[in-house]
Amino acid sequence: MVFMLSLSGHRFLWLSYFVIIRAILIDLGALMAGSVVQELKSILEKRIMVLDGAMGTSIQGYKLDEADFRKGHFEDHPSPLKGNNDLLSITRPDIIEEIHDSYFAIGADFASTNAFSGTTIAQADYNLENAVYQINYESAQCARRSADRWTAKTPDQPRYVVGCLGPTNRTASISPDVNDPGKRLVTFDELVTAYRQAADALIDGGTDIIMIETVFDTLNAKAALFAVIQMKEERQLDTPVMISGTITDASGRTLSGQTAEAFWISLMHGGLMSIGLNCALGAKDMLPHIKLLDKNATCLISAHPNAGLPNEFGEYDETPEQMAEQVRPFLSEGHVNIIGGCCGTTPAHIAALKKLADEYSPRPIPENFHALDATPKGDK
Ligand SMILES: [Zn+2]
Repeated sequence: MVFMLSLSGHRFLWLSYFVIIRAILIDLGALMAGSVVQELKSILEKRIMVLDGAMGTSIQGYKLDEADFRKGHFEDHPSPLKGNNDLLSITRPDIIEEIHDSYFAIGADFASTNAFSGTTIAQADYNLENAVYQINYESAQCARRSADRWTAKTPDQPRYVVGCLGPTNRTASISPDVNDPGKRLVTFDELVTAYRQAADALIDGGTDIIMIETVFDTLNAKAALFAVIQMKEERQLDTPVMISGTITDASGRTLSGQTAEAFWISLMHGGLMSIGLNCALGAKDMLPHIKLLDKNATCLISAHPNAGLPNEFGEYDETPEQMAEQVRPFLSEGHVNIIGGCCGTTPAHIAALKKLADEYSPRPIPENFHALDATPKGDK
């Protein structure tokens, strides 16, 4: 009773301490976030930065079996888990870190988190909606540990964690049923909720940048962007945001029917660090669409194409040298600020791209580009 009285008597004092400490923590957080965006800006003014390559291709090389996907965490899960690569961040973090290390070792600047399917929507296929926070958190942690190791080794080249938000396996703007054009398997609000949960966990795990990637439906990307902007406001974060779409066919459009130019216009309100393209096409077929983005976008440009087009077995045959030659005009003609690889790329491919990146100057930072300015909070 005495304790309770004294607690209530000091409640005001305790509250004051709490408010002061919280304010200090928020300021510290803002300061640290500010330093990452300032670092990034000063690097991107000088050179082309390099994203890592495929995670899936590297994982395949380990010849893992069902037990690896369950180890210590999902032993009793009733359905098969092999192929749910995101789980390896939890069950085999040693492997995921080794893969991040392999890309940092050849000079990549960014590690993208192994959480491509880390939303409740994508994990519903495995009945693993409950594991989504852990997937994103541990994926960010794997990349964070690896990035910090390499930053300590090469302080003149700090390394960064890119937290990935994948497209999910449902589309908000296209019906899955030709006889019912109004039918949708997911709503905008459901996507926002799912993306917000994933984004919070990625940030909690130590992510520097959020990348909404492999966007085939712009409405899904808008939901992800909405969730990220909301998170940044609520949590007072300066986290830079990258968006990367995917052109799925020869008509030069995304699955939801947009050209690269329309794609940019749909998302330009988001205060983006970069817009770009990845996956689906090899570098050669991606180039005209990157040129369109370069011509129009007032933020930075990224590209991470596949190692060519898959053969009839779904494998990628393009060698690092072949890929580098296809990618060369992206850099020699000054179209990009960030380059990397998607499906089928290995550390050898990314090493070849890093060599190219060091040969050429980056696309000039557009006028009125403020996504990496350390602006005071609430003044954007
Ligand atoms: Zn890909």
